Amino acid sequence: MAKTIIEPFRIKMTEPLPMTTRGQRERFLGDAKFNIFRLRASQITIDLLTDSGTGAMSAAQWGAMMTGDETYAGSESYFQLERVVQELTGQKYVIPTHQGRASEHILFSVMVKPGQIVLANAHFDTTRANVEYLGGTAIDLVIAEASDPRNEHPFKGNIDLARLEQHLRTQGDHVAMVLMTITNNRGGGQAVSLANLKAARELAHRFGKPFFLDAARFAENAWLIKQRESGQGQRSAREIAQEIFRLADGFTMSAKKDGLVNIGGLLCLNDDALAERARSLLILTEGFPTYGGLAGRDLAALATGLTEVLDESYLEYRLASVRYFYNLLDKLGVPLMRPVGGHAVYIDAAQFAPQIPKEELPGVALVNELYLEGGVRAVEVGTLMFGKPGEVAPLELVRLTFPRRTYTQSHVDYLGEVVASVFARRHELSGLRITRQPQFLRAFTAELEPLAPCAPAKGGR
Ligand SMILES: *Cc1c(COP(=O)(O)O)cnc(C)c1O
Repeated sequence: MAKTIIEPFRIKMTEPLPMTTRGQRERFLGDAKFNIFRLRASQITIDLLTDSGTGAMSAAQWGAMMTGDETYAGSESYFQLERVVQELTGQKYVIPTHQGRASEHILFSVMVKPGQIVLANAHFDTTRANVEYLGGTAIDLVIAEASDPRNEHPFKGNIDLARLEQHLRTQGDHVAMVLMTITNNRGGGQAVSLANLKAARELAHRFGKPFFLDAARFAENAWLIKQRESGQGQRSAREIAQEIFRLADGFTMSAKKDGLVNIGGLLCLNDDALAERARSLLILTEGFPTYGGLAGRDLAALATGLTEVLDESYLEYRLASVRYFYNLLDKLGVPLMRPVGGHAVYIDAAQFAPQIPKEELPGVALVNELYLEGGVRAVEVGTLMFGKPGEVAPLELVRLTFPRRTYTQSHVDYLGEVVASVFARRHELSGLRITRQPQFLRAFTAELEPLAPCAPAKGGR
């Protein structure tokens, strides 16, 4: 029996990759003020910035788009999506939105009053921002193991149940809900175990609080449960996902991840009164409840994507391709966030280039070298992203995020070579300083300057 886990698809439509020279990339990066968010797509060969909305749709999804129903009210594509989502999740009300953050805004608008608290394993950036915008407080209670990149705990997305209970006991009057993000994106695409989800739900309900999910990567989380949790190996990913969704009183989902579409989101609820209020707000900000900010064809593509994502040969390939890259880097001795997660590989840049102080942004230095070396775009998740002027972040990570069904194994081999050659001359890397930054979300637009001239071009591709 062959051992290689192959891409379980063949390619019938191609998109050329921009090929550039080292000299061109030096110019592009300088023009972008040494901030890869300011690069253009045509300047990037392999783009690992994000897995959000960047994947490839299947022939079945494109086919579904052609038969999508664009009726304003009562679109058949909506009813198709509703059926698929109800079957998967058991939730009564299926509310489409244009993307995950719109679902979050509506959910928290109807559930979080100023002064109230949301307790989560970890809030994603937009989730936290929406809670705070509505006057709430977002508290992260992920287990302590998650803050040590070298710890091999198989479920580093788990919530610390003792701390959750303590918050519910002492601040219960102010808690609006308990929210579990699956997988934990902030913490490295780390999964939450089924046992932890059940225990968190039991605690929430014991204190009379609703239990919600941020389910952007529910299928990857289900697969990691199947792989890693005792007693789960014989179940299908679909069965595990169905059980997870049935634990919840509702969920938000960015469909741009495991929905396998380029745009879309869901808000699902079981409570009649809550759903009515959410739909009123939906009409105000997104659109009529049977399209919610999307075209009928988008709803049809999502209905198909939510079915395809639980195909076990897809999930096996998906997780294997991320693990394959992780193992390539691990063999080289590249310091990594452990264990491998669902959608990305994270390099610990502080360990990769310890000569660069955190104030001089080791993660950005590594991201920029990867671009110069091979036209690869990764993203810093560290002081530039999360620090404020004069502060440093607890971890300096570089995330290499895999779009779904987009790159092949030879692309991954190429990525391995690019990282290897930067790793071989890691002692030469030097830091940067910020020359201009906005007040909020500075990573996206900041301008930077290298503190030492770029290492001289060697060979180049
Ligand atoms: C992407 C993401 C969101 C926000 O969704 P958008 O579709 O980008 O608005 C929320 N939570 C998690 C965990 C995500 O990964």
